[in-house]
Amino acid sequence: MNTKEIVKLGDKYLMRNYGRIQLAPVDGDGAQLWDADGKEYLDFVSGIAVNALGHCNLAVVDAICDQAKKLIHCSNLYYIEPQVLLAKMLVENSVMDKVFFCNSGAEANEAAIKLARKYAKVKHGPDKVEIITALNSFHGRTLATITATGQPKYQKNFEPLPAGFKYVPFNDLQAMTEAVGPETCAVMLEPIQGEGGVNLASKEYINGVRKLCRKFGALMIFDEVQTGIGRTGRLFAYEHYSVKPDIITLAKALGGGFPIGAMLARGEAARVFQPGDHASTFGGNPLACAAALAALEEIIEGEVVEYTNAVGEILYSELEKLREKYDYVKEIRGKGLLIGMELSIDGKKIVDACQEKGLLVNCVGGHVLRFIPPLTVSSTEVRQAIGILDEVMAGIKV
Ligand SMILES: *Cc1c(COP(=O)(O)O)cnc(C)c1O
Repeated sequence: MNTKEIVKLGDKYLMRNYGRIQLAPVDGDGAQLWDADGKEYLDFVSGIAVNALGHCNLAVVDAICDQAKKLIHCSNLYYIEPQVLLAKMLVENSVMDKVFFCNSGAEANEAAIKLARKYAKVKHGPDKVEIITALNSFHGRTLATITATGQPKYQKNFEPLPAGFKYVPFNDLQAMTEAVGPETCAVMLEPIQGEGGVNLASKEYINGVRKLCRKFGALMIFDEVQTGIGRTGRLFAYEHYSVKPDIITLAKALGGGFPIGAMLARGEAARVFQPGDHASTFGGNPLACAAALAALEEIIEGEVVEYTNAVGEILYSELEKLREKYDYVKEIRGKGLLIGMELSIDGKKIVDACQEKGLLVNCVGGHVLRFIPPLTVSSTEVRQAIGILDEVMAGIKV
């Protein structure tokens, strides 16, 4: 099928919940992507920070094929070898103690919210239920996670929302200090807000939040669904700070492109869930875990995170040059290969023109271009992308 045919069927048979771009990718290799009409793109979206090793990484593909021939699914009624191996690898490479597997970021955050609620109930009593999150955050699309998401546009028309959530401005320690109290059950934050516009939390902020959580017996939850697994130039973004969160959630890059989510907890929090408290039929299935195990092995043993830091610095400095060149660029910010370019104009025109010239980028919050190429992107590909972007930006009239 060509793009036109695919789009036509999609418009007829799919629900309209996505504002889709008229592009139908059919083939990928590393940072390269081809659409149904054979046009080639440089993919700096990576399935929204999912394809950390690029498209169709051989180790991941082989692991999926091998596991698919052995056992695709059984059930968490039983012990699953790839699942226990993946849990071991996550624990050994983090400050966390135990893992729960699910299938997506929203599910991982749901699990974190449930765990925090139960922890507070059992340890402190029935009234410690409040979960504090940040304005502009993004935590997923289930009812509880749109409620945790501090952006009204995701909540509109879905009320009544679950009770017990409170919002504070991001990176504002004063506001957090005023919000946290004896009724606080948990504080849930993205260390770098991804969908909210690539906003970084400062060290002072995170250290301050950690102290407040400890003081009031609240759990500190890091939503690392986007920042986790090497994206920010560390395996986990909490490593940029000198804190240990009580819970972290992962998904996006965890499976090297295959759907899987995880919620990891530390210390007492890791022992809260008892048989029957939480579950997922597909969570931690053999196929997903085999894919994730291969991806994680590749990232850790291939020293991908170190590489990401180096290539991330090239991308950052090239983007800084564009900021100096074009007045409508306000700021470049980010870490590793999660980098945003804040514009004083709407970013859509640039995104569309880049696509026309074979570069896929996306825009968050209307005016922040987000660059999230594969962690393994080459410096040549980075320079190619910058070349296209520069060309496009030169043609923008403001
Ligand atoms: C993408 C994302 C989610 C939601 O993940 P899904 O897999 O789409 O449910 C949650 N939190 C953050 C920070 C994200 O970037």
